[in-house]
Amino acid sequence: MTASHVHDHASCRSEALDAARRLTERRGLRLTETRARVLDIVAESHTPIGAYDILQRLAGERGRAAPPTVYRALGFLVEQGFVHRIDTLNAFVACFDAERSHDAGFLICETCKTVEEIADPALGEAMRKTVSARGFKPRRTVVEISGTCAACAAKAAA
Ligand SMILES: [Zn+2]
Ligand SMILES: [Zn+2]
Ligand SMILES: [Zn+2]
Repeated sequence: MTASHVHDHASCRSEALDAARRLTERRGLRLTETRARVLDIVAESHTPIGAYDILQRLAGERGRAAPPTVYRALGFLVEQGFVHRIDTLNAFVACFDAERSHDAGFLICETCKTVEEIADPALGEAMRKTVSARGFKPRRTVVEISGTCAACAAKAAA
């Protein structure tokens, strides 16, 4: 799935929600209404969204959750791998492949602002090899690559 290309995002979005529901149940956890709502907002597009914008989105809703509840929900989603934090942008994107455990790698387009997740095992393998050769014990490994996505590059060339 190339994030920046036109595609049926409604199905990405509902699949992300369904996967989160299945995984929380399997892990004996609960995808509460707030957690599901926050995930749904983050999964609305492939463009990262900041915590403040998530709060703003919820602000207009009836029976809205208090900010600490929203932050806790976000923390839960990140911990469970349903949402990834893009450090470079201080923002969040939904994981559209949560049922496969993977090393997170992100291609961040500076033109259209979409983020495409690359879950290529070869990438993680190469990183682990390089890192362990230095005797370093990694806790968290995330690759964030900024640049121009294929769609934007093609548009620029046209
Ligand atoms: Zn999509
Ligand atoms: Zn992911
Ligand atoms: Zn782009």
